[in-house]
Amino acid sequence: MNAVAHRRLRRSVSAFADAELPRLDRTRVGRHLADCPGCRNDLEVIRAVKVSLDRLGRRRPVAVASARLAHFAQRLGAGATP
Ligand SMILES: [Zn+2]
Repeated sequence: MNAVAHRRLRRSVSAFADAELPRLDRTRVGRHLADCPGCRNDLEVIRAVKVSLDRLGRRRPVAVASARLAHFAQRLGAGATP
């Protein structure tokens, strides 16, 4: 495979992770992923980022504010200036 074809496939990995590719392209990218450790690594990173973003999205704003307030109170208790 030449570098241009590989670059095109590599750009499709994110769409593959999102299941946004038409079936034919999905099959083509899937076959490439089976043979290319670099693109498989990209896929793993993309999936890990998506999982992290999902988790962040599920955190309730109140929980985030409470955590910040607790951290602030802890710093005050330790004598730090806010
Ligand atoms: Zn590749």
